[in-house]
Amino acid sequence: MTAHLIDGHGCARALLAGLADEVAALRTAPVLATLVAGGDHGSALYHRRLQALAGRLGIGHTARELPPDAGQQQVLDAVAALNADPAVSGILLLRPLPPGVDEAAVFAALDPAKDVEAVHPENAGLLALGVPRFVPPTPAAVFHLLDTWLDDVGEARADFYHRSRIVVVGRSNTVGRPAVALGCAREAVVESVDEWADRTRGLGRHTRWADVLIVAAGRPGLIRAEHVTPGTVVIDVGINAVRGPDGRVRTVGDVDATSVAPRARALTPVPGGVGPVTDAWLLRSTVAAARNRTEPSLQEVS
Ligand code: NAD
Repeated sequence: MTAHLIDGHGCARALLAGLADEVAALRTAPVLATLVAGGDHGSALYHRRLQALAGRLGIGHTARELPPDAGQQQVLDAVAALNADPAVSGILLLRPLPPGVDEAAVFAALDPAKDVEAVHPENAGLLALGVPRFVPPTPAAVFHLLDTWLDDVGEARADFYHRSRIVVVGRSNTVGRPAVALGCAREAVVESVDEWADRTRGLGRHTRWADVLIVAAGRPGLIRAEHVTPGTVVIDVGINAVRGPDGRVRTVGDVDATSVAPRARALTPVPGGVGPVTDAWLLRSTVAAARNRTEPSLQEVS
């Protein structure tokens, strides 16, 4: 068996295809505001990529840049200004925040109606209850890729999820934890694994149990052939910069694709898997936020 490679770029293109028309139908163009407050190279690249993508769809983009040593009050003031700006539909808070800034306090200061990443406690709570206002873009991308792949191979989504065991490796508030909520919402059996499971019982005992393995640990090559039962669907969320023997820096996932691909039923590549769909989902949520200002309803996208 060699894994079917799930094409994130194709999936993102399909997701974005209808979005430009939706934008055109709105009375005022949606605007995504990005708060860049850390001087991080990776987040600056991400920010430029989103800006270009938004521009192609007719979505406005504005950036509020703060110095890398900005303090807590400076960040909170910038959030308050974006909350109050009627032109801003959605707010993206790039991380890492400057050292010493309390991330949870900044998340809680966001206007929940503009919180397109669903990091505000109200939005995280709605997701946990199964009635999301917004779904965090990365776990949304994971399940959108899975749903789309199931449609492509002609398997009924409900049948597949109801008999599937989903193991999520990594338990961050922005990726692993909400991915668990989305698996539960699809009425699958879901297990959440973090690094303590790896240190104590060993990761393989958990991951070999999976029909669907979602890996978001930020550890290059963490998942190898011995962690995967043949026939597993593997979604690799990891994005890691590693220097190869030739001295060049490459982007790799958390899954050692070379050893896992021969065992997996399907696998997302890195790059070109979860990443492009995450970007598309963020813009989709920004459009939903703009639409919701004129046609308010709590539940927008799931
Ligand atoms: P994080 O550092 O906030 O959380 C990592 C989680 O993995 C923690 O719960 C930790 O306990 C767990 N973990 C670490 N080592 C482990 C191990 N050996 N075994 C099991 N669990 C382990 O990271 P995050 O923000 O959730 O991101 C995870 C990865 O996903 C990173 O590589 C990040 O770059 C990537 N990411 C990708 C996208 C995308 O669009 N593709 C978006 C966000 C994050």
